[in-house]
Amino acid sequence: MNVLVTGGAGYIGSVCVEQLCHAGHQVTVLDNLTEGHRAAVDPRARFVHACLSDRAGVARAVKEAGAAAILHFAANALVGESMTNPAKYFRNNVAWGQNLLDAAVEAKVGKFVFSSTCATYGPPERVPMTEDLPQRPINPYGESKLMFEKMLTWYQRVYGLEFVAFRYFNAAGASEKFGEHHRVETHLIPNVLKVALGLAPECAIYGADYETPDGTCIRDYIHIADLADAHIRALEPGRTGFYNLGNGEGYSVREVIQACRMISGRPIKTVEKPRRPGDPPRLVADAEKAAHELGWRPRFPKLEDIVATAWDWHRRHPNGYSD
Ligand code: UDP
Repeated sequence: MNVLVTGGAGYIGSVCVEQLCHAGHQVTVLDNLTEGHRAAVDPRARFVHACLSDRAGVARAVKEAGAAAILHFAANALVGESMTNPAKYFRNNVAWGQNLLDAAVEAKVGKFVFSSTCATYGPPERVPMTEDLPQRPINPYGESKLMFEKMLTWYQRVYGLEFVAFRYFNAAGASEKFGEHHRVETHLIPNVLKVALGLAPECAIYGADYETPDGTCIRDYIHIADLADAHIRALEPGRTGFYNLGNGEGYSVREVIQACRMISGRPIKTVEKPRRPGDPPRLVADAEKAAHELGWRPRFPKLEDIVATAWDWHRRHPNGYSD
């Protein structure tokens, strides 16, 4: 199948492109490389250096790719940054994203697969979280993704653009070739592993006074290879709707740091800092819907195994794609 992948030079997109190419699909990557890296694009894929803000360029790329499906990863995805620069999130994730949606309708693309997030829920009424929980985001990042989800619903209903939207929990881990390299790193696991590698003196724990057993935030970490696998399943005809993607197990910040100590065998110094604005205390997925309807089961259900793949990649690429 011809597939266009936006954000295919980014962290999750790169591994999805790798799996799509491996499965024999013809992949075109569209990326503006502000967050992504050219070296993260699987050499089997065609690369188009373009920005979603370029409406005509996006429409042309969709047509030239002959895309039967679009996988839309390109976005800004930092909770903290969104609290200080919401304009960036609504512009890049919503307004520019709409250029892609319109191009998809115009080119009669059969399937649109969207990277959404558990941040669309806000602090949940209960965990594990099912897809039918109310969505009340507490940061502009989650709000921007929720707005796009709503647009998808209407584009499907009115224009017939079939979609699958995946609400990722915390993406983590690496494939053998592709891993996590953000130019400004704010995510927990890569920051902790930087300390293990001796590239940073200590890692911050943002908030130790949450109402959780050890006072730190709880998240559900899911391997990017498992996320990619769900996307490939979403391409099957007739599949549509919203799906949580997570392991169904929550780990606190302290537990993640401990897992990193164990896997790396290195001491990791921590320092407690104030809470980071916009962080819900506890997010854990119920991903039974994806299991039942897509036959999706994570191959990396254990945190230690996820961290081990990340550690392996970071050890081999201490400077990420800048090597
Ligand atoms: N976190 C932390 N120190 C860091 C980075 C993150 O304590 O250096 C915490 C953060 O406050 C959140 C959790 O780790 O509670 C996961 O954060 P991350 O940025 O990895 O993902 P998010 O859940 O924000 O998407």
